[in-house]
Amino acid sequence: MTDKCETVVVHCMDYRLQRYLNNWVEENIHPQSYDRISIAGGVYDVYDVMRQVDLAIRLHKIKKVVLINHEDCGAYGFEGTNERHSVDLRNAREKISKLFSHIDVDLYYLNLNGTFEHID
Ligand SMILES: [Zn+2]
Repeated sequence: MTDKCETVVVHCMDYRLQRYLNNWVEENIHPQSYDRISIAGGVYDVYDVMRQVDLAIRLHKIKKVVLINHEDCGAYGFEGTNERHSVDLRNAREKISKLFSHIDVDLYYLNLNGTFEHID
């Protein structure tokens, strides 16, 4: 058990995903060591994400950011192709890494069937 916050997880607010996200967080992130940001569209508005991540870094000294976008996201509508999600996730990682070079950023795409795909 640790009392240090190590990770911030950012994902969409979509109700269809929450049980998958809960299970994933439970299995992959140390309990009581993460902040969680639920925001419409995931990284759709990268500056919204940056503001929240900045706070997590400053307040809780986190070391890792996990960004999760998902299939059929309402914020993206018809623009929400796999390609677009990958581009947006990588763009968000680049922006975060530029400002906070000591932070690791992991990217995932969550399918509606609950499977997570790691994005390089
Ligand atoms: Zn969504």
